Amino acid sequence: MALTVAIIGAGPSGFYAAAALIKLGLDVQIDILERLPTPFGLIRAGVAPDHQSTKNVIRSFTRTALEPPVHYYGNVTVGRDLSLAELRGIYDAVVVASGAPSDRPLGVPGSDKAGCYGAAEFVGWYNGHPDLRGLNPDLDTSAVCVVGVGNVAIDVARVLVKTPAEMAGSDLTDYAAEAIHKAPITDVYIIGRRGPVQAKFTHKELREMGGLEDCTALADPAQMPETIEEELSERDRRLREKNLATLKSYAENTPDPGKRKRVHFVFFAAPKEVLGGERVEGLRLERTRLEGGRAVGSGETFDIACGAVVAAIGYRFDLIEGLPPDERTGVVANREGRVDGGLYVVGWAKRGPTGVIGTNKHDGDRAAEQIQEDIGDGDKPGRPALEALLGERGVRWVSFEDWQRIDSAEVAAAPPGAPRRKFVRVAEMLDLLDE
Ligand code: NAP
Repeated sequence: MALTVAIIGAGPSGFYAAAALIKLGLDVQIDILERLPTPFGLIRAGVAPDHQSTKNVIRSFTRTALEPPVHYYGNVTVGRDLSLAELRGIYDAVVVASGAPSDRPLGVPGSDKAGCYGAAEFVGWYNGHPDLRGLNPDLDTSAVCVVGVGNVAIDVARVLVKTPAEMAGSDLTDYAAEAIHKAPITDVYIIGRRGPVQAKFTHKELREMGGLEDCTALADPAQMPETIEEELSERDRRLREKNLATLKSYAENTPDPGKRKRVHFVFFAAPKEVLGGERVEGLRLERTRLEGGRAVGSGETFDIACGAVVAAIGYRFDLIEGLPPDERTGVVANREGRVDGGLYVVGWAKRGPTGVIGTNKHDGDRAAEQIQEDIGDGDKPGRPALEALLGERGVRWVSFEDWQRIDSAEVAAAPPGAPRRKFVRVAEMLDLLDE
């Protein structure tokens, strides 16, 4: 009997796991279950709308989805439409690839004020994630603080300062384009609690900030170290030297009077309090210094006036009933990806929210090998039992062919120069399929 495998989540880690299982040449049936009708997880809802080339990996995931052993079940939520225990009862192996879709809380006084957002929700909003399209962030402000100096922070800042012409080839949603491009934003602050050398930007993303049409990138020369003192691997040293050189070049900039906007890289500043009444009016920061690589507060504070704060300080895994959390790391408790008999975890749910898209490939390979080692031949029914269960419960699942119809309709509706106009409501997608 074919080995039956269910994968929870159709993001990169789920697709890499499916591809790895196929590559092993096993007699296998692979069913990918996804909460949204649309596949590809963060590739669709997380990767910046103006970085379309990063989304090219969708082609390879599509090839995997079209392989005969693979079926896609979109619009199926594990934990609501069926339980993890039920899934484990009908599949020989279950691979959790549900990512880390929520925000780590900023956790300072005032962070519950209107105008303070997590990056997962803010990015989900501008990328048209159906759960977040209603966020309606209030951008009626001249200044926005983005906390964190990683790639998500830089994505958020860049989308806020690029011109409509610079975003023309993107799939930024219409409502977000309207809100952002009408907003009176002139200054965006990207704030790191440690120094320029510890910033987690990749160089390409950091360098892009220096070449924007209507925005000058600025930094404080006094915060730039002469040299990198840390002990680092050769590769890390090269990356950080490049980042530092670019930040130093921003520190030499003065605001270009011909440009309307500025992005300020601010280091050695840890958030202490979000200021204001009901709404955000500023961010209080404490100056820090590095001790043993950690940011240590100096007791001295300063304020940045702003009408919105976006905390891009990392993502968090959402628990599905039946999965053991690792309280210390905030991921699914696992031993190199093994959770429990027949239960595996890959990607950010396994490792936490780090690495690039391709980092997930290793997790997929490892999970496929473990399934092969642990299980061998299958004896559980898989697909027919899943379809019977979903049918009994009236769950309207979306097949990969259905997704391809949604995709074609989005591409057909694209404004000139843009790759697509996304559907942002699940009901609209299902209506299209039922037409
Ligand atoms: P990240 O790279 O881990 O950066 C998180 C940032 O938040 C760090 O600067 C961290 O500072 C800071 N931070 C954490 N807790 C904080 C706190 N309480 N107060 C102040 N600052 C705090 O995470 P990310 O930006 O969310 O990105 C997640 C992953 O996706 C990364 O691997 C990233 O490279 C990847 N990604 C890649 C791209 C791309 O390739 N274009 C785009 C987006 C995301 P410390 O270092 O001091 O902890």
